[in-house]
Amino acid sequence: MSSQFDPFLQFVDVQKAYDSTTMVVKSLNLNVANGEFLTLLGPSGSGKTTTLMMLAGFEEPTSGEIRLQGRSMNGIPPHKRGVGMVFQNYSLFPHMTVGENLAFPLQARGMRKAEQTTRIRTALDMVKLGSFADRRPGQLSGGQQQRVALARALVFEPELVLMDEPLGALDKQLRDHMQLEIKHLHERIKVTVVYVTHDQTEALVMSDRIAVFNEGRIQQIAPPAEIYQNPETDFVAQFIGENNRIEATIKQVSGNQCHLVLKDGAAVLANSPRKAEAGEARVLSVRPEMIVVGADAHDLANSYESKVREIVYLGDHVRVILGFGGIDDLSIKLTHRRAANLSVGDRVRFGWKPEDCRAL
Ligand code: ADP
Ligand code: MG
Repeated sequence: MSSQFDPFLQFVDVQKAYDSTTMVVKSLNLNVANGEFLTLLGPSGSGKTTTLMMLAGFEEPTSGEIRLQGRSMNGIPPHKRGVGMVFQNYSLFPHMTVGENLAFPLQARGMRKAEQTTRIRTALDMVKLGSFADRRPGQLSGGQQQRVALARALVFEPELVLMDEPLGALDKQLRDHMQLEIKHLHERIKVTVVYVTHDQTEALVMSDRIAVFNEGRIQQIAPPAEIYQNPETDFVAQFIGENNRIEATIKQVSGNQCHLVLKDGAAVLANSPRKAEAGEARVLSVRPEMIVVGADAHDLANSYESKVREIVYLGDHVRVILGFGGIDDLSIKLTHRRAANLSVGDRVRFGWKPEDCRAL
């Protein structure tokens, strides 16, 4: 039974195995709110597409249940779930016009011709292709074809739209543009979206929340800024954004912070997202852009000195690399101005705040 307290979409202890040996999705528990844009982000093979296929109804869970508006989807065929879908390879019918492609899901639902026409017009306007109804997919660019696929997924006004790497086949510039276009479209029509990608930027740009997948499990689920600034696991810190990863041992715990010692003996005060114990092995995570260089670093709780090994020019910033804490490639991201008076071989003072690093 559905009740007003049910989440819009719910995965309850969902597992999936394609054979008798490997669970590719492991006890997935997940709630999605009505109107939310949720992204499943993770490396290839982590179970994202499998999760989406179970949601669409093309795969059945091995165990557990998926509920849409409180109703179990177990055994419900794809066309009865009211779910729109967009995939990487557009999957438009090449012999049909754009208009006919959009009419297809409406005809399948037995909609009257006049209403079909109105819906198709609205959907094409939504993706800014109002004058393209009579073209064939072959006469459109990749980006336009993907917008048609998007319009086709939205034309029957589904409550839920699933997208699996829909921008994967587009070049970078078009992808950046389409990310914002899909985000704005979502803001306008507030349909619930479950979006799959392995591209962290895409996930950060578009999502209300990101579920980071690894080996069939959600590692962390949170809004983009939370995922980036407060990764809870070593995997999340490494997978999203750039990260300095240094092996460490906990010396002492004080509240949600802990004192760590690194392989070269350096002491570091860091936040710990989970309960810590003296003697425990952890990895220290520090983002390159959180490291301060020069006089400002003197007063920081974590303040050190080392010799510059390499300076790399990257156009919009400069990367300074030095040895520290048992690694020889601690990376620091600086503006040109900050890096201007640095040379390879210089001894520099650098550091960061305890709240800008984590013991994971
Ligand atoms: P992702 O979308 O994150 O790349 P998938 O869900 O496609 O991951 O795949 C997860 C795992 O399940 C992979 O190891 C993949 O080889 C396996 N897998 C996916 N689809 C099938 C299938 N139809 N039959 C057997 N194994 C599959
Ligand atoms: Mg996939």
